[in-house]
Amino acid sequence: MAKQPAEYIWFNGEIKHWKEATVHVMSHAIHYGSSVFEGIRAYKTPDQGTCVFRLQEHNRRLFDSAKVYRMTIPYTLDEINEATLNIIRKNDLQSAYIRPIAFYGDIGMGLQVPFGQETEVTIAAFEWGAYLGEEALKNGVDAGISSWNRLAANTMPTGAKAGGNYLSSQLISMEARRHGYGEGIALDRNGYISEGAGENIFIARDGVVTTTPKTAAILPGITRDTVMTLLRDMGYEVREENIAREAMYLADEVFMCGTAAEVTPVRSVDGIAVGNGGRGPITAKVQDKFFGLFNGTTEDKWNWLTPVYK
Ligand code: PMP
Repeated sequence: MAKQPAEYIWFNGEIKHWKEATVHVMSHAIHYGSSVFEGIRAYKTPDQGTCVFRLQEHNRRLFDSAKVYRMTIPYTLDEINEATLNIIRKNDLQSAYIRPIAFYGDIGMGLQVPFGQETEVTIAAFEWGAYLGEEALKNGVDAGISSWNRLAANTMPTGAKAGGNYLSSQLISMEARRHGYGEGIALDRNGYISEGAGENIFIARDGVVTTTPKTAAILPGITRDTVMTLLRDMGYEVREENIAREAMYLADEVFMCGTAAEVTPVRSVDGIAVGNGGRGPITAKVQDKFFGLFNGTTEDKWNWLTPVYK
């Protein structure tokens, strides 16, 4: 078993010890990937203490993902929000990565899930540092375009954050690591840039920022939305447009973003230096604004922070 990162897990409405929060080997989700989940972060802020970032939007997406798969989560959104806050409190965490997941348990073999079948729900919360490493936040990652395409629109919906989708992400990130890259970026079925294994992609050239559209087989990230909002608030033009592979090579700046990866510069793509091969000025500004939400230098005009202990 992996090292136990926290004491307790919220499990179908109860608090269980980490080691006791287990499921049956015949759980549907293990066999067929039938789970939907979220990744959420909480940060320690100077004024409001520990705050969850965009709690409502993340848990709303959990329910949206479930809806796509006709899954019934036997709790309300408010109940899941409250449970999310509670498990952080129960573990007495100052900062956290939070993982709510709804999945089919031991409901029997076969793909015919009865309509109205309820999911199990668990929420874990634990400390988790920079996903791509502290160094990457400053100096950027070397990324490579994967030989694996992202899922085609009419195969599996990438807009739903489902467990099964992450087999694609694993292929992309394993290949990237095997080739010596810090992260892999996949193309969509049309050959345009889609997203990283677990991050959305932005490029900047001549002061204009572009990110891939929702139709490019992406998970429309909440961090992506945050970054677009912050950039526009600073007066930058932000476009959602198809990005050709070579546009990554020719960009002044590339960065990736996600809840786990936060805002991470990309310093090279396929071994070609992006701009001058480090963190570009727009990336630095948006990182500053982003982390400023948590260190108090960016005003939370959008009510994105939910205090945990108040
Ligand atoms: N794409 C994929 C495939 C992801 O797994 C994630 C992380 N959840 C993202 C994008 C970024 O989404 P968010 O900013 O909502 O975390």
